[in-house]
Parts: sequence; structure tokens; C-alpha cells
Amino acid sequence: MSKQPLLSVSEARQRILAAVAPVTGTQLLPLEQALHRILRSDIHAPHDLPPHRNSAMDGYAINADDLPASGQSELLCVGRSFAGAPFDGRLESGQCIRIMTGAVVPEGADSVIMQEQVQRLGERVQIGPNHRRGDNVRHPGEDLRAGSLVLQSGQRLGNIEIALLASLGIAQVTVQRRLRVAICSTGDELRRPGEPLAPGDIYDSNRALLAATLNHPAIELYDLGILGDDRETLRATFQEVTHFADLLITSGGVSVGEADFVKEILTEIGEVDFWRINIKPGKPLAFGKIGPTHFFGLPGNPVSALITFQQFVQPALERMSGSEPRTPLRFNVPLRGDLHKQPGRETYLRGILRSDPDGTLEVSSAGHQGSHVLSSALLANCLIILPADSSGAASGEPVLVEPLRERMS
Ligand code: AMP
Ligand code: MG
Repeated sequence: MSKQPLLSVSEARQRILAAVAPVTGTQLLPLEQALHRILRSDIHAPHDLPPHRNSAMDGYAINADDLPASGQSELLCVGRSFAGAPFDGRLESGQCIRIMTGAVVPEGADSVIMQEQVQRLGERVQIGPNHRRGDNVRHPGEDLRAGSLVLQSGQRLGNIEIALLASLGIAQVTVQRRLRVAICSTGDELRRPGEPLAPGDIYDSNRALLAATLNHPAIELYDLGILGDDRETLRATFQEVTHFADLLITSGGVSVGEADFVKEILTEIGEVDFWRINIKPGKPLAFGKIGPTHFFGLPGNPVSALITFQQFVQPALERMSGSEPRTPLRFNVPLRGDLHKQPGRETYLRGILRSDPDGTLEVSSAGHQGSHVLSSALLANCLIILPADSSGAASGEPVLVEPLRERMS
């Protein structure tokens, strides 16, 4: 089998993004079920928001013509406007009405005086100077104008988007259909948690990682379980998956060992786009397509699987599910402690990013960096990224850091 050249991390990411496109198909969902989904229509405000002129305070609605230039003026309280129960009438000169926050400001009134700033004497209300016309009145359309573009197709619906749609009375939204993602682990040594281990066996953690990471309202997950290192089973399963999945993610069996059949089968029944990336950990990664189904063959080592998922699968998932892949947040931070590496591969280390009370940042290694050591990933809240040609960094030098989204909250 001919050896392909190593692709740089950024080239690999570009090629992945060039190869995948948003899946087609939408569904209409009740707003309560639309959190984290991608909107597939533009939303225009059906009416002004707020819909009516209303009070920002509990107090008295007045007309500013009645305000005293100095001293006190006395107005007659002729009614009330509560939220949901507007005053039925028009305010005349010399009159005021009792008004609550959110209640309609009646015709004839143009200002609201806070209740703490008046003296109430029976039906009469005394108001001093230093108020301005328009005080404490919220105007229709101040938040959103009727007809204005509120949200655009392609936006992800988060908590604020959902709240805004609710405030406009929108009960249903058209969203991108869920992405169908199949996952499996490959390896004769793998057992499910709960099963006994024979000598040489280990527990399958990659599928648990993938299932947990892909547990998302915009994803329909098909868990195919553990597949042995057996050509026929792998081939039959991969072929079956093309009938329903947009994306298949496997782990293990992509390096050059004698039981590594994944890439071989991909070449046989599909197309391999590339399979060697200049990254550590995670060099042997397969990307390709079987029929209509995109394919990622992640390396077997748990940390390699974690990092290649984050760097390569995540952007593909974002594009396929209809949102634009986010550019990862990366910045330089002084390193504490020395880091050594061989020049050659772009290296992703598990790091711990800390800030002093005064806001000064520093980053250090999270410990053992072996690609089989998941426990140091537990401590990490960021990746430290060292360039391919570097041979490490000395304490105090700035290094590039990418916070890990999952562990930032
Ligand atoms: P492979 O790429 O199949 O040669 O696997 C590389 C290493 O990762 C081996 O030590 C495997 O036992 C280990 N490995 C493969 N798949 C998994 C998995 N699903 N969970 C945990 N370790 C795995
Ligand atoms: Mg294996």
C-alpha cells in the first residue's frame, strides 16, 4: 500500500470542510423542542416589540404639560392601568392614573412618575419638579420593529433566541433535520463495561466518549457497538450504515498493524480522502466516504480519539448540521515549566490554564501526555499547541492555547 504524504492539520481541516455540506431536510418543531437546533427560515417580527406603549415603573401616568416648573403640582387620580388591564379612557389635563410596570400608558399621558417620587393624599397626587417628558415610558418597537429581521436561517437556537421567539408569539419553527451519526469501536480486545475481562482485554472507552460527546438534540445517534477485527463483519456493517447514516465514526484499526482493516475496507468499498495527518497524538486518521455516508476512522488510543474528534470531526459536524464551523478560540499564554518535543509533528498537549486574581494567565502541562492516558485529560481545561517544527518551549515563553469547550463551564 503506497504511503501518502503527511497532511498538515490546517490542510486536513480545510479538506474536510470542503468535502462536507449541510444535510438537506427540515422539520417543523414546537418552540419548546427547538433548543440547540439550527433555524432553517428567516424570522421577521410579526409585530412591534413591545407591542404597546407601556410603563417602565410602578407609579402615576401623567401629561408633562401638568408638571410644575417649580414647587408642587396636584393631579386628580381618575383610574388605573395594570398589566393586562389597561385604563379605558383618555387622560385630561390635571389628571393622572395609577399605573404598574408593563401596563399600557393611556392616551393623553406621556410620562410616568415613580411612586416613590409622589405624595398621595386620597384621590390627589402631589408631584414635585425635576421630571422630564417621556420619563419611564417604553415605546412600541423599541426592542424590535414589526417586519424587521430577527433571526436568520442557519442560526443556532440558544436560550436567548428561544426567549426572543417566544416574546414574538412564535410557537413553531422550521429547523434543520437531525444529523444521523453512527458510531462503533473496533478491536478484538474490547469489552463493554460490566463484562468480565479475559487476559489482554480492555474496556471500550471510545464509544462511551463518542456517545457522550454526540448526545445533542441536533444529532440522532446510532450506536453499532463493538466490532471485532474481522474484515467481513466490518465490511458488512459499514455497508449497512450507508442506508441510514450521514456520518459514520469508528475508532481503532486505522494504523498499520496486522489487524488494522478499517482503512483497507474504506478503500475497497468507498473512497479514502486522506489518512495521515501531521498531528500528535492522532496521526493515523481516515477520512472518506462510503456511498452517501461520510466516514471518520479515528485512532484507537483514547486521547488520540478525543483530540482528533475535537480538531477534525467537530467542524465537520457543525457544517453538516447546518451551522458555520466556529473558529476555535486560541491565544498565547506564558508557559509554566518546560515542555520538550521532537521537531516533526504539530503537537496537542493537555494543559491547565489558570488565572491569578489580577487576571494574569499562565498554562502548564496537565501531566502524563501518553495518548493512552485519559486521566490527565480529566485535569485539562485546554490544549497547548506546539508547532510542527518546534522542539518545545521553555518556562516563561508564550505558547498557543485552545480552551476545551466541554470543560470551560
Ligand atoms: P488500534 O488503532 O486499533 O491499533 O488501537 C490503538 C490502541 O488503542 C490500542 O492499545 C487499543 O487497544 C486501544 N483502543 C482501541 N480502541 C479502543 C477503545 N474503543 N477504547 C479504548 N481503547 C481502545
Ligand atoms: Mg485495534
